[in-house]
Amino acid sequence: MNQTQTVVKVPFFDLKRQYQTIKTEVLEQVEAVFESMMVTNGPFVEQFEKEFAAYCNVEHCAAVNTGTSALHLAMQTLDVGPGDEVIVPANTFIATPWGATYVGGTPVFVDCKADTWEIDIEAVEKAITPKTKVVVGVHLYGQPFEALKLKALCEKHNIFLVEDAAQGHGGYIGEHRVGSIGHMACFSFYPGKNLGTYGEGGAVVSNNKDYIDRVKRLRNLGSAKKYYHEELGYNMRMGAVQGAVLSVKLKQLDTWNARRQEVASRYLSEIKNSAIQHQHQPENFQSVFHLYVIKTANRKHFMDYMAANNVGAAMHYPVPCHLQECYAHLGYQEGDFPESESLAASCVSLPLFPEMTDAEVNRVIEVVNAYQA
Ligand SMILES: *Cc1c(COP(=O)(O)O)cnc(C)c1O
Repeated sequence: MNQTQTVVKVPFFDLKRQYQTIKTEVLEQVEAVFESMMVTNGPFVEQFEKEFAAYCNVEHCAAVNTGTSALHLAMQTLDVGPGDEVIVPANTFIATPWGATYVGGTPVFVDCKADTWEIDIEAVEKAITPKTKVVVGVHLYGQPFEALKLKALCEKHNIFLVEDAAQGHGGYIGEHRVGSIGHMACFSFYPGKNLGTYGEGGAVVSNNKDYIDRVKRLRNLGSAKKYYHEELGYNMRMGAVQGAVLSVKLKQLDTWNARRQEVASRYLSEIKNSAIQHQHQPENFQSVFHLYVIKTANRKHFMDYMAANNVGAAMHYPVPCHLQECYAHLGYQEGDFPESESLAASCVSLPLFPEMTDAEVNRVIEVVNAYQA
């Protein structure tokens, strides 16, 4: 036997493995949806909304069709419109600032911190103007941003805090669950998220019933009572199959997050290579490691090396929001947000998903440690 044949190939991600572990229950629930023929909104979605609100330790939840819609409807519910500024980190997925843009508001970007790569609260304070209406913080890569500190700053200035928790399902800051700190929090259930459905999904959660009632109206054609439309709304309802799948998967989320944390803590302690910089994990901020992102100076060289060794790798995200073509009209320049730009230029996401085997984790550590810049 040739030794090289035993080398472990590590995929960046593999959703099929997880499906195999819950397949029977998922298919039972999908069948129950079909037998009921209440296939959009309805009891399966309402059941998931109750369960997810309880999970996030908040009073209310409105499920919607995507995380992007959740951010859009949260901005509309806070009456963001033309002339209003919404502060968002430059290093995030593009849907974070799009919420503000959809409703005519203006995203105002700020940089991230050099060590945690999370939104820089001092930069937020400097960016506040009389026009600032909302700050959207992002629990990037699953690590909670300093939401309690940011909430206090927002309250001092009479502005709203919205958590973009699309990567943060289940995280904690001390005793506070991610999603329970801001005036509202937005989640995505895109298949690849820590809690993902088999299709698309999103949710807005809050302790404020009026906010969630408005999100529910907006997602349902601006209507609380059938054929009576109080305001211009959208069709952004969640399908019942998605709600039913999410109820099955929610029961496993803490177990899956615990395995992600286990793998991540091995990466953090065992990957020791001067060419690799880890995301600093501050004490008391419990990450759910949606992604394990490292920085390395010569990224192309590193990515080619990983590919040559059959270890998956990806980039989150190669272009910061302020330099995206869709925001060219805002007039930002290269050099405006050095930390976000450095992250965009040097970030690499390593394989991290709950179903990874120990042999695969060992292999990632071995390959990354053997990398020579
Ligand atoms: C995935 C994601 C979104 C958008 O969610 P979709 O369900 O894909 O529309 C928004 N913000 C962040 C930070 C995300 O990671």
